[in-house]
Amino acid sequence: MTEQGGPDLSALLAQERRARLAAERLLEHKSKELFSANRQLSEHARKLSDEVVVKSAEAQTYRTEAEELKGENTQVRADLQKANKQADKAERRLWEALETIQDGFAVFNARNQLVIANRAYMAMFDGLECIRPGATYQDILEVVVEEGLVDIGFEDPSAWQARMAGRWQQDRIEPLTVKLWDERYVKFLDRRARDGDMVSLALNITETIRYEEKLKEERTRAESASRAKSAFLANMSHEIRTPMNGVIGMADLLCDTDLTEEQRLFAETIRGSGETLLVIINDVLDYSKIEAEKLTLQPEPFDLERTITEVLLLLKPSVQGKGIELMLDFDMFLPTRYVGDPGRIRQILTNLLGNAVKFTTEGHVMIRVTGIGSDDGADQQRLHITVEDTGIGIPDDKVDHIFGEFNQVEDERNRKFEGTGLGLAITQKLVALMGGEIWVDSVEGEGSCFGFRITLPLDEGTDTPAPLHSTDLRTALVIDAQDINRMILDRQLSMMGLRVTARRSAEDALADPPNSFDLIISDHKPPGTDGLALAQALRDRGERGPILLLCSEPGQLDSDPRMQGVTAILQKPLLRRDLFQKIGDLGVTLPAETPLPEPPAPEPPAQADRLRVLAAEDNRTNQLVFRKMVQDLAIDLQFANNGHEAVTAFQDFHPHMIFMDISMPEMDGKEATRKIREIEADTGAPRTPICALTAHAMAGDADEILAAGIDHYLTKPLRKAAICGKIEELAPVGLSVTAG
Ligand code: ADP
Repeated sequence: MTEQGGPDLSALLAQERRARLAAERLLEHKSKELFSANRQLSEHARKLSDEVVVKSAEAQTYRTEAEELKGENTQVRADLQKANKQADKAERRLWEALETIQDGFAVFNARNQLVIANRAYMAMFDGLECIRPGATYQDILEVVVEEGLVDIGFEDPSAWQARMAGRWQQDRIEPLTVKLWDERYVKFLDRRARDGDMVSLALNITETIRYEEKLKEERTRAESASRAKSAFLANMSHEIRTPMNGVIGMADLLCDTDLTEEQRLFAETIRGSGETLLVIINDVLDYSKIEAEKLTLQPEPFDLERTITEVLLLLKPSVQGKGIELMLDFDMFLPTRYVGDPGRIRQILTNLLGNAVKFTTEGHVMIRVTGIGSDDGADQQRLHITVEDTGIGIPDDKVDHIFGEFNQVEDERNRKFEGTGLGLAITQKLVALMGGEIWVDSVEGEGSCFGFRITLPLDEGTDTPAPLHSTDLRTALVIDAQDINRMILDRQLSMMGLRVTARRSAEDALADPPNSFDLIISDHKPPGTDGLALAQALRDRGERGPILLLCSEPGQLDSDPRMQGVTAILQKPLLRRDLFQKIGDLGVTLPAETPLPEPPAPEPPAQADRLRVLAAEDNRTNQLVFRKMVQDLAIDLQFANNGHEAVTAFQDFHPHMIFMDISMPEMDGKEATRKIREIEADTGAPRTPICALTAHAMAGDADEILAAGIDHYLTKPLRKAAICGKIEELAPVGLSVTAG
């Protein structure tokens, strides 16, 4: 190009080239940017499409789940419907059950408003409109009182309501029984549930209450019948004993007169039968008393060994003529004095020993007393007492039976013997009353052993009879055919420090060299001879020591000239105390506790007054019996036919003592005694001893009689010895009652 148009063009071209280059650079730059943007865009697009895939997969899952849930929901709804149906059914059943039961059922909410109640519950309110769900317990209580639906007795209505409301506040609500207007009895059992609801059950116990009332009525009737029975027995006792007094008393007197042998047999039979009858009456009475729980024990201090000996002595007549030996083995180391009811213990012993003697024809009857260790302390003693016999025994299958009332062994051998069959029943009850037990071991044909165990308090200050330790006597010879007797004597004498040689017979004893023994004790009937002959034989051969004879009937020997050879008689059965005493008397130092001899009786005054005795007795026969019984005494006797006469005679006759029958017409013995005691108090006269003559033998009578002011009492039938003994006992000192 020329310069003519020149420079502007090249500049233009350069400018254009620069612009083009710049444009190309820009383009290149922009296309890079576009490329990068495109790449990002496609990356986004890929990501987006990935997300879309995921989301659509999720959406599919949700759709599926939603479908499933829909299905489940339908199932749940169906289940719910079913459950509702079942709940309805259960509720219906429950209500039907609640409506069927006779007892009331109600539920109250925590605000004590009635929520539901069955018909039986509502029926208590006799259809009252106001008692319906929503009513409060307080409303119900008010309505109940206002309408008289419940028998509230004499209680103040508001007090009753307060009591009932208070009861519901308790943590443990006690059952409550109320009587309704329609004579029904309802027992409320209320319980507060955990959510505060109160569930109330109203049980209809009308039948139970009626039954209880009936039982109560019947018990009252039975008790009054039992009281009537006891009263009847007491009267019977009186009615029977009064004529028995005449029968036995007269027979007793008759026996004392001159009689032919036949007449004596008759009189003694009357007396014996009368006494047997009395034993039976006493048994029946005792049994009834124990049954009626009227028998109470009367404990007092007594000597058990002496009591047993007395029972044995009483049984002697029944043993006479039989070849039976009565023996007592009282534990050497056992105290003899206890506190118990001696009368009842005597009765137990008499029953057991009496049976043993009755059912034994030969051999022995032995009573053995031992002590057994006890946990009851030092002031009590457990006693083990057995009565062993060699009699007919008891068959095994009858052993339990015999303790029942009126039960006896019914066989040929047994029924030869008399008895009521009450003895063992009474004995068992008495032992039980004393807190003890009784048993029997027996072998038929060989013998029986009855045993009982009782625990008795020791009599204070008691000590075991102390044997003396002899200084003079060293050796003793015992002669007795019975092994047991020899053994007992051996033990007793050994305790005194004596060396004992025991021989069975006189022959054996005489075989010993003379004068080998310091003391000889023999049974009064050793085999082959008799005791007196043996004593004689021993003396004849030069025996110088004391000879003691053991004898059941000492009186029989008194008149025998051969008694000279005998130093002393020992009464069988032998009391330990007596043996120790007797040997002590042979010249050994006496033990410290031996009682001092009685002081000599004062000389009777020279001009003794005669003893005046007043006897108040309405029954003529008994008056006659009384008169005859005391006829040998030097007394002035006056009778009163009733209480009035007794009071008058007391003032006119000034008796030294009064025998007072208790049941007399017009004024009885207790009343008369009270009057006499009043007169004495008014006049300052000394107290006249009054002894009741009572036919009543029921427990408790004695207390009542003594409370009337009577000092002593004798039970009918009267015995001559008892009456005469009492007169002598009550006679003022110095006034002799013996005739002549
Ligand atoms: P009872 O002697 O009056 O018949 P118990 O109740 O004393 O009445 O005795 C009941 C029965 O027990 C007697 O009849 C007798 O069969 C039997 N029995 C009691 N003691 C003995 C005994 N020692 N030996 C044999 N049998 C006895």
